[in-house]
Amino acid sequence: MNIILLGPPGAGKGTQASRLVDERGMIQLSTGDMLRAAVKAGTPTGLKAKAVMEAGELVSDEIVSGIIGEALDDLKPETGVIFDGYPRTAAQAASLDVILSDRKRTLDHVIELEVDEDALVERITGRFTCAKCNEGYHDKFKQPKAAGVCDVCGSAEFKRRPDDNEETVRTRMTEYRAKTAPILPIYEARGLVRRVDGMADIEHVTQAIEAILDS
Ligand code: AMP
Repeated sequence: MNIILLGPPGAGKGTQASRLVDERGMIQLSTGDMLRAAVKAGTPTGLKAKAVMEAGELVSDEIVSGIIGEALDDLKPETGVIFDGYPRTAAQAASLDVILSDRKRTLDHVIELEVDEDALVERITGRFTCAKCNEGYHDKFKQPKAAGVCDVCGSAEFKRRPDDNEETVRTRMTEYRAKTAPILPIYEARGLVRRVDGMADIEHVTQAIEAILDS
């Protein structure tokens, strides 16, 4: 099974993708995560992407489609994939069609997480993760149970994304509205789009997605 999770920044794509990985043994391909790893490692791709990401703008279609193709080549054909944060433009959607058909994969669902945009800035600017195990937290909605200590691995080190500040979030939203939302009709025309209420609590969103995957 190959699915795309679509929705604006902060809609919960990454959270839901990692839950599906745990529960279904699917693989999450997050271009954002892959680009952040490239920036951290200082690869040529990372060097090109760093400033663009910090500004909240979109990295070039060639770069992201290239890393998606390479990542798929590392997987067994039967492994299910969740595309998280890709495609984000009409050109990327067209590339994904080719990338999938070259690998004899088909797209099963495009799941749109519908959210109230006003809530997103608060969701994003408050979020942080454990620097060691990547467990997600939030200043207001999910503090660690013991202050300053990760619930999962006990680490005392946490990190925030440099692009999770209000100004950059606004640019990311504008990019989403201008370039990513317009790809929904492409998938709607193929009958692939399913909508989920992304404002529900995390568990309910997961259940709604699971119901779609089992349908
Ligand atoms: P994300 O983690 O999905 O919020 O992505 C963080 C940043 O990485 C975005 O604001 C973009 O700068 C870049 N990025 C991630 N995925 C893509 C993509 N599919 N196309 C272009 N830029 C991307």
